[in-house]
Amino acid sequence: MEDCIFCKIVRGEIPSDKVYEDEDILCFRDVNPQAPVHLLVIPKNHVPKLSDIDVESAKYIGKIFEKIPSITRGAGLDKGFRVVANCGEYAGQTVFHIHFHILGGKRFSPVF
Ligand code: 5GP
Ligand code: ZN
Repeated sequence: MEDCIFCKIVRGEIPSDKVYEDEDILCFRDVNPQAPVHLLVIPKNHVPKLSDIDVESAKYIGKIFEKIPSITRGAGLDKGFRVVANCGEYAGQTVFHIHFHILGGKRFSPVF
């Protein structure tokens, strides 16, 4: 996708602080961290949001979750971390390339 910020990061057109990368997924630090550690994990393929996941894109989403244990271990989040995904503008999504926030490095209050 030509104008998508995260596709531009995947293509290297916008710099990012990369934490993990393979042929399918990319993990980098959020530019505006909301916790001491704030990572974003994305599929390299452009999928706008969670409600667009289909059988094909689900493979990449599965891969993201397969890699979260090693990514978070590498980031020193052994005590625990929070994963957040906003789906749609109504839920607060601002970048329409599916992504999972990994937040850690502090104790969180319950969400509900
Ligand atoms: P959303 O609100 O869509 O769930 O999350 C989008 C996240 O992307 C925000 O936390 C925002 O700080 C982050 N973000 C937006 N633009 C950039 C960028 O160019 N680089 C990085 N590293 N993060 C970005
Ligand atoms: Zn994209």
